[in-house]
Amino acid sequence: MSGFGERARKLADLVRERELDLLLVTNLLNARYLTGFTGTNAAILVGPAHSTFMTDFRYLERAQREIAQYDVVRGRDDLLESVADLARDWGVKRIGFEDWHMTVRAHGKLAARIADAAELVPASGLVEQLRAVKDGEEIEAIRHSAALADEVYRWLASDHGLAGHTEREVALAMELHARELGADGLSFPAIVAAADNGALPHAEPRAEPPIPRDTLVVVDFGVQSASYCSDCTRTFATGNLDDEAAGCYELVRAAQAAALGAVRAGADVRGVDGVARGLIADAGRVEQFGHGLGHGVGLEIHEAPRLAPTAEGVLEAGNVVTVEPGVYVPGRFGVRIEDLVVVGASGPETLTSFPKELTVV
Ligand code: ZN
Ligand code: ZN
Repeated sequence: MSGFGERARKLADLVRERELDLLLVTNLLNARYLTGFTGTNAAILVGPAHSTFMTDFRYLERAQREIAQYDVVRGRDDLLESVADLARDWGVKRIGFEDWHMTVRAHGKLAARIADAAELVPASGLVEQLRAVKDGEEIEAIRHSAALADEVYRWLASDHGLAGHTEREVALAMELHARELGADGLSFPAIVAAADNGALPHAEPRAEPPIPRDTLVVVDFGVQSASYCSDCTRTFATGNLDDEAAGCYELVRAAQAAALGAVRAGADVRGVDGVARGLIADAGRVEQFGHGLGHGVGLEIHEAPRLAPTAEGVLEAGNVVTVEPGVYVPGRFGVRIEDLVVVGASGPETLTSFPKELTVV
């Protein structure tokens, strides 16, 4: 990817705004985002005057070849010892560290070695803030993952089927088919949840009984390719539905469409959630929609920004978020419909294309 230089520059700006001399990045996904590095041991030091990538002997040669935006240096096996020594040599005074990720033990060791030479400042979220707005290459990668998952949904609906298979069989078959199509793996373990199991938003696929006829089945599935995730939910029918199930399906579909219509750069994240939640509340079912409307997707399946009653902020162009209202009727069934979209100035571009009309499988 060619976006690494841009990411390094933007991060150095954020570090300066926070009045830090240096940010120490130890989270490996953040390191991957900044450099493309896929090994298991790295520390990145970024600041107005510094951009250094440190790894151990095992990865050194590859990193020197592949990472152009940073001075690549070799650290001791415990990289934090070398980080502390470098920081002392440079004479930096305020070092931000990723407190969401660093263990208490690692922090203790780092602090002991730096002693009173510099202050360690909790500064998580800077790289995550950059990650929330995707560049063109990232959007292409997510688009590809979403297209692979779409293909699996089409295959599920037209070739494989649901009724008569167990939930586990279906989940396994979907994963296998995704890998056959070229996916590196799944974004998260697939959810296939029929009838009463569908009333659990994070249901685990059951080994028994086989999926019955005349019920609803929630299928939540995403794949990973080129490190980027996708996320899509469709709820299928396996035959005729009673009025309550059919009504809930149409309610969720309408709420999902209305919320999609509210997604655009500048929209309040709580407000977008409220569009779907309001419609579900009008139908007297707000208690049965117990999760947020959506979440960001990228290198991780759940990342910033969140769309939820408790979230804060506004959407930005280049955010990639899910829109996934649901209604869960305990002991009976669940309905969730989820699309993955890129936020644009005038509205969303939807990356998930499988139809949302009720499909009987
Ligand atoms: Zn999902
Ligand atoms: Zn999701």
